[in-house]
Amino acid sequence: MYKLFKRSHVPGSFEVQMAGVCDTGIARDHNEDAIAIQEDDGRGFYLAIVCDGMGGHNAGELASALAVATIDEYLEKNFKDKKPEELLQEAFALANSRIDEAASTNPDAEGMGCTCVAVVGVRERLWVAHAGDSRVYKVSRGDVRQLTIDHTMVQELVANGLITNEQASVHPYRGRISRCLGHGKNKSDPEINEFFIEPNENILLCSDGLSDVVKKDDISSLVGMRDVRTACRRLVETANRAGGPDNISVVLMRRVV
Ligand code: CA
Repeated sequence: MYKLFKRSHVPGSFEVQMAGVCDTGIARDHNEDAIAIQEDDGRGFYLAIVCDGMGGHNAGELASALAVATIDEYLEKNFKDKKPEELLQEAFALANSRIDEAASTNPDAEGMGCTCVAVVGVRERLWVAHAGDSRVYKVSRGDVRQLTIDHTMVQELVANGLITNEQASVHPYRGRISRCLGHGKNKSDPEINEFFIEPNENILLCSDGLSDVVKKDDISSLVGMRDVRTACRRLVETANRAGGPDNISVVLMRRVV
């Protein structure tokens, strides 16, 4: 599966360009990631979501598709009436219950779930919500800063000073997440933080199919490409050249003015 979104051209003093690609990768035969993008149509509101599904019998695909559709629709419908933080809390809770409900009526989908990162923009203000190990980076002038802390058991060991980041990156249990949507047992409420986006800054959302195999230096140089669509395609190509061991999702937001 390969999706490509057009970037926006909103006239005026504020403009964010957006693009995204969701790719199966080389090693997997189906894509359990899902993405959604809402461009700013002049209201100053824009949105991006990346989910990475898990669960047997293609259930991961169902979980991530349900999460993306639920959160996208809920935010679009209610963004005028509520604060972004409250909206994101409610949207994640609704997605979580829909996934668990779907799992409870389909034996093949038992235990399905997904990670989720969602970024809501209201002009230059950004709310970043996440559950799991899909990530958000801010990239500007060659600097790549991770805005999310992975919700994984291994990252908790790092936070408690028991292992280093280097040890975490090769830890055999590094893929075990401690928070997600669905899946029954894990915590599902998102961690939400607020940021600003300045002119010429980029926000990159991605699944671990990118962050596990593409180095920060490559992220920095590829995100800096002139065209956001080309940047997304090149990021995915780079992950695939590194073996493409997992599904790869990227969404790029760039404030141009
Ligand atoms: Ca993945």
